[in-house]
Amino acid sequence: MSATDTATNVILLGPPGAGKGTQARILMDKFGLVQLSTGDLLRGAVAAGTDAGKAAKAVMEAGGLVSDDIVIAIVNDRLDEPDVASGVIFDGFPRTVAQAGALDKLLTDKGMSLDVVISMEVDDAAMVERISGRYTCAKCGEGYHDTHKKPAKEGVCDSCGGTEFKRRADDNAETVAERLKAYHAETAPLIAYYSDSGKLKAIDAMADINLVSQSMADALGNG
Ligand code: ADP
Ligand code: ADP
Ligand code: ZN
Repeated sequence: MSATDTATNVILLGPPGAGKGTQARILMDKFGLVQLSTGDLLRGAVAAGTDAGKAAKAVMEAGGLVSDDIVIAIVNDRLDEPDVASGVIFDGFPRTVAQAGALDKLLTDKGMSLDVVISMEVDDAAMVERISGRYTCAKCGEGYHDTHKKPAKEGVCDSCGGTEFKRRADDNAETVAERLKAYHAETAPLIAYYSDSGKLKAIDAMADINLVSQSMADALGNG
């Protein structure tokens, strides 16, 4: 793929805190791909008070997985928007084998294909610390961390100069434990699913953010 290719579609697979959102934003800037985060779409639905949002709210607060039907419908709608022609980074989707099967079908129906699945390998033990220290710019959504990624100037977003930041309600130790459990029970089996398809590339996501994005570029054939 090169920066001018228009249809590389990639899945970022990894537990909560692996760095999917962080790397998706970097890939977006580098290669012009579109980030499709089901977590962001669901939080948007909750905030907007849609039926899907109402059904998802309590499940998300408890760290469980929202039902496949709701998530697949949201992805289906998002893939009907024209900007996805630039190529999509699936961030946090699919999370179950049923969602992976549904994605195969959606992509076929829409004349799209899946190019690479990047499995972000991390130590579970480090994920609680990553998530507990996570915060984002309220204005532009840039992600930060209390120790691993601070803004260059304290209290000011590197990307947009914003001065307000927020933390997610579900980024607490108790909920994180539930989310990691859900990952191992429901999502980790996708590694075998995509390994069988020959599209899986594993990278070390415990390295520094810049090194991880270099591995990502390599995996996309842009090293
Ligand atoms: P993280 O990036 O920390 O893993 P996300 O923002 O991807 O968190 O997801 C937040 C919450 O939204 C999840 O804990 C889950 O409740 C819900 N969610 C997001 N994506 C999915 C999905 N593909 N299937 C089911 N639930 C999802
Ligand atoms: P995910 O979307 O997979 O849940 P995030 O991209 O939100 O994960 O990253 C979780 C937290 O860890 C954020 O605060 C982020 O700044 C930080 N982070 C991301 N990648 C790394 C890394 N390679 N090393 C250290 N911290 C990281
Ligand atoms: Zn910002």
